[in-house]
Amino acid sequence: MENRNLWNRYDADQLHKMEEVTNWYKICLDKGKTERECVRISVDMAEKAGFKPLSEYIAENKKPEPGSKIYAVYNEKTLALFHIGKDSIEKGMNILGAHIDSPRIDVKQNPLYERNGFAYFDTHYYGGIKKYQWVTIPLSLHGVIVKKDGTKIDISIGEDDADPVFVISDLLIHLAQKQMKKTGTEIVEGEKLDLLVGSRPIESSRPAKLKDKESVAIKKNILDILKNMYDVEEEDFLSAELEIVPAGKARDMGLDRSMIISYGQDDRICAFTSLMAILDIETPDRTACCLLVDKEEIGSVGASGMHSRFFENTLAEIVSLMGLDANLALRRALQNSTMLSSDVSAGYDPLYSDVFDKNNAAFLGEGPVFNKFTGSRGKSGSNDANPEFMARIRRVLDDEGILFQTSELGKVDVGGGGTIAYIMGNYGMEVIDCGIAILCMHAPFEVASKADIYETVRAYTAFLNKMDNIK
Ligand code: MN
Ligand code: MN
Repeated sequence: MENRNLWNRYDADQLHKMEEVTNWYKICLDKGKTERECVRISVDMAEKAGFKPLSEYIAENKKPEPGSKIYAVYNEKTLALFHIGKDSIEKGMNILGAHIDSPRIDVKQNPLYERNGFAYFDTHYYGGIKKYQWVTIPLSLHGVIVKKDGTKIDISIGEDDADPVFVISDLLIHLAQKQMKKTGTEIVEGEKLDLLVGSRPIESSRPAKLKDKESVAIKKNILDILKNMYDVEEEDFLSAELEIVPAGKARDMGLDRSMIISYGQDDRICAFTSLMAILDIETPDRTACCLLVDKEEIGSVGASGMHSRFFENTLAEIVSLMGLDANLALRRALQNSTMLSSDVSAGYDPLYSDVFDKNNAAFLGEGPVFNKFTGSRGKSGSNDANPEFMARIRRVLDDEGILFQTSELGKVDVGGGGTIAYIMGNYGMEVIDCGIAILCMHAPFEVASKADIYETVRAYTAFLNKMDNIK
């Protein structure tokens, strides 16, 4: 067997490039802890690479030509990038699609309450989490508050060293006899995931009353602080989108610095590598496309999720500007496309080896992972990729000397999961899941291999440049 581990395949130059890429990745993780923040930095990077907004093309009725770089954003939360290729778009595109939402805890619409000396934000968690992992760690607050007059206020508290952070409390072990006997899903219940935001009463109040049920002195103080900082009232929470995420930066991990630990690597690790690939390529034969979408973690639903018509509508605009039939040419473009649904895979964890089928598991440091299918209980809900397509991918990657692996998500009956692959499959395009293996997926801090990040940028670049379609 050839050496399947990336680390010993890289020369000094490649190792240096890997450090450059992963340093930039860590910066992006720190700047992009929510969908909106991710879209903002991605657009920023895209504009620096010469991408122009679709709205500009529409306003000027400008025809997209080979080499045109175009982007479109939906409500600050979903982004589509196109690098128009030399071939007609009807022949299809090469698409990389990742999601930029991550599991977290959201603030409810009527959140602020006071109880026995503390003020809290009531919350509702987002995506699949082990709730007990999110207590007693420093948390930060990100998002927007939109006032009735339309003024939008960006919130980010807890990332700067000088900022305060927040916490969700947990019961001390000394009194936890009953709690420790509960099952994992009940150890910390959803309604107990409330964020502790204050304990100091407003100056005019009498502290002796703080333990009374009726006291609102601490809540009033919090509202006072919010008023001073952002000029918002309590009702403005009604039109706010506030997300609670782990505070702190992405860090190198391990004595050998071979890994990165950070919040939100599912799926910003694939969003980042996809973005790096599309920003870097010369004008390809087939139009290159990168989709960074929202709401994957809750089923790709809603106007900013992959199920929405945003991508199709955007493509219809582009096709029309090209002077093609926005119905037929659009359908051909979609059906003739090939796509890597770039999402993370479960990395093999030797400490939990019993849930993996070792021969069909993904290992950190062995390159991007192809999942022919995902789903659960007999591939249910999965886009089962065509072997003809996988054969062509093998050829492209082998030609470039890129290491890859295949896997499925754990043993057959132990669980499962899904991605956006099947949604794009509905257009009749060739789609396969291809992403990076990570440890502790959906935990507040997830772990990935630096080598996989570098190799995946290479793989995605090769896919955009070299993938053809024989249809
Ligand atoms: Mn994911
Ligand atoms: Mn996920």
